[in-house]
Amino acid sequence: MKCNEGNEQLYRYIDGEMEPNEAESFAIHLDECEECSAAYEETIKIKEELKQYAQQMPKPKIDMEQIFLSAEKRGKNDKEEKSQVRKKILFVFKKSVSYAAVFVLGVGLYAVGSGMFGGSKSMGMNYRNSYGTSDGVQMQQSVESENLKNAQDAAASANSTGAKPSKTMPEGLKLSSDKIIYTGNMVIEVEKYEDARQSIALIVEENQGFVQSEEVDISEKGGYEYYTSFYKIRVPVSQYQTVTEKLSQIGTVKYSVQQASNVSYEYYDIQGDIEQLNIQKQRLLNLYQQANTIAELIEIENELTRLNTKINDYENILLNYDREVEYSTIELSISEVISKNALINPFDNLGKRIKEAFVNSINGLTTALTVVFLVIIKILPFALVAGVVFFLVRQIVRKRRIKKE
Ligand SMILES: [Zn+2]
Repeated sequence: MKCNEGNEQLYRYIDGEMEPNEAESFAIHLDECEECSAAYEETIKIKEELKQYAQQMPKPKIDMEQIFLSAEKRGKNDKEEKSQVRKKILFVFKKSVSYAAVFVLGVGLYAVGSGMFGGSKSMGMNYRNSYGTSDGVQMQQSVESENLKNAQDAAASANSTGAKPSKTMPEGLKLSSDKIIYTGNMVIEVEKYEDARQSIALIVEENQGFVQSEEVDISEKGGYEYYTSFYKIRVPVSQYQTVTEKLSQIGTVKYSVQQASNVSYEYYDIQGDIEQLNIQKQRLLNLYQQANTIAELIEIENELTRLNTKINDYENILLNYDREVEYSTIELSISEVISKNALINPFDNLGKRIKEAFVNSINGLTTALTVVFLVIIKILPFALVAGVVFFLVRQIVRKRRIKKE
């Protein structure tokens, strides 16, 4: 007998699906083969643990019959199709939990995972949302919910062998207000850098905001150091207008742009996706309760883990949106006015500036002399040729004059 082909024999043996003589020879093999008997022990242990886990699981809250009835209420026109679909659903979910059901489920979930049904070119648009992350770095986050949704719809229909689930509108869409993210971008020139920084701190604090990040850039000109600060400020959306107005008074506004992007569609779309995933999860939990072979338990367990991860990811995206909606972002840069400062302190660093001026003029002189020298070198061959030509012409003219005379 061949040794344990990918555990398939082992599972069949444990699930009691082998013919008696096959089982007998496998039992003999188990006695002889260390590898297989170890795998056997391990699998039995896992099976026990899974059984216990399954018993501890809460009873599913959603009744499949109820789900079907509400789907029916939502209305499909074709009655014949409906009753067929109904029969199939009942077959899959009620009558038996066989390998067939798990297989169909597996195919459906695989489709979700690989996205094999998803995203035709015309439907699958990826919208990109740009928002800052908590560490203050501007990032592009791609939300591929359209593709995912298509895949899930396809998967859900594969799931229930041909049933077409109609996607319900999330409750929140009708009731709650739009999800709008406000962002501002300002460039302000200030007379005194340190005063401006203090004003900003005060404005932000008074309006229950916080400075998410500040980056300071120092540049030097004429012996002076000039400071520029790049701020990322977060304020409650209710205070956004007030804060931008107050900030614009700390200096001369060179640039200012306010943006409001509505992310309601993306937001509620993801919310809908989460609902779908939860329904799938409930189906799996139903199956889990009734599973009786090791292969089923392992497969369902894996899918549950995967679904939970996905739900968690989506919830995190929503959480991020919520934060962005609640707290507006203001990107602000302040910089000192260079010429004014130079006038205010004409004698600061005078020695340093004289030295710099001297070095600069020496450098300038050297450069000028070099240029003149190079020009002469370049011109020299032409000058030589021109000289020879001039000499010859003069000789000819002279000879002619002598002839005439
Ligand atoms: Zn073996």
